[in-house]
Amino acid sequence: MSKIAVLPGDGIGPEIVAQARRVLARLGLPFEFEEAPVGGAGVDAADDPLPEQTLGLAQAADAILFGAVGDWKYDSLPRAKRPEQAILRLRSELGLFANLRPARVYAELAGASSLKADVVAGLDLLIVRELTGDIYFGEPRGIATRPDGEREGINTMRYREGEIRRIAQVAFQAARLRGRRLCSVDKANVLETTELWKQVVSAMATDYPDVELSHMYVDNCAMQLVRAPKQFDVIVTGNMFGDILSDEASMLTGSIGMLPSASLDARNKGLYEPIHGSAPDIAGQGIANPLATILSAAMMLRYSLGQTEAADRVERAVQQVLAQGYRTADIHTAGTKKVGTVEMGDAVVAALG
Ligand code: NAD
Repeated sequence: MSKIAVLPGDGIGPEIVAQARRVLARLGLPFEFEEAPVGGAGVDAADDPLPEQTLGLAQAADAILFGAVGDWKYDSLPRAKRPEQAILRLRSELGLFANLRPARVYAELAGASSLKADVVAGLDLLIVRELTGDIYFGEPRGIATRPDGEREGINTMRYREGEIRRIAQVAFQAARLRGRRLCSVDKANVLETTELWKQVVSAMATDYPDVELSHMYVDNCAMQLVRAPKQFDVIVTGNMFGDILSDEASMLTGSIGMLPSASLDARNKGLYEPIHGSAPDIAGQGIANPLATILSAAMMLRYSLGQTEAADRVERAVQQVLAQGYRTADIHTAGTKKVGTVEMGDAVVAALG
């Protein structure tokens, strides 16, 4: 029996998570679900964006299905009470250091991309980003005043070998579950930190003879992602480069409501969430696209619960409903069937058979 913590959160979170939960329940696998408030809902329930009980549930579970947090009504709260703190605290409390962001373009939605349809149609890449190190956390940092009175901003890019090895391991393993090609992205020609990155990743390649490893400088990668993104299978990179490249890659698909993500710890326990936020502008209207959350649930099956076949089933079901012409408002185009959140969930459940 796998225990899944369900943290719907705020805004459209509860609407989209309910559909993903229905899809998981339909698979007929031994899952136990337990729900708890997080984000603004946590503040309302227990005056804390990540209540003790919610954290305890997340720690005890095998995987976490997360909706989204945040709402304008909490904007005046002190920083520690803001809904968004919940996700940052969950990452650090659970040691979630690996962020997996697939960017997949379904043939039916290729027209939604800002790039030419033939450049992106059939795109299926995965970016593995290190999440807890790099220049975002390196010391020393700050804004200092120099002896001559001029101010200077300081941040430090640093990675230990162990940090590089554990994220590379996640990426090699993810590549094994996909096309078995891994591209490590660095700036080794200029930055010693990433020179070490390249050395460590290269040394690990002998442990994964079935995965083809290549290296690319980050500036070239940014260019290749818009020139010929289909050349990539899995990309692994550090926190800062990954931050930028994963946003670039997500926009290749043109539809924020379609993109899942995972954040994993060293034992493949993970938190799964759509990359979009709580969309307070459309909350409660029943029009949010639940597919990013349903696809996040598919990632959960694949990466944390070892249910590869079930993950394939869910992904095939999503593909099928798109092929059948079902579209929520955010991806709707002339000639397709406009549906709401629940109807889209119905369609995916029906496609599972
Ligand atoms: P957002 O992603 O919530 O929304 C951006 C736009 O995309 C909106 O117009 C929204 O209606 C639309 N959209 C998003 N998801 C959609 C879906 N599933 N279906 C259809 N349309 C969708 O970003 P925002 O408006 O900048 O932020 C809103 C709140 O979400 C803020 O409080 C922000 O802090 C929070 N946020 C949370 C997370 C998270 O929980 N991990 C991530 C990003 C933003």
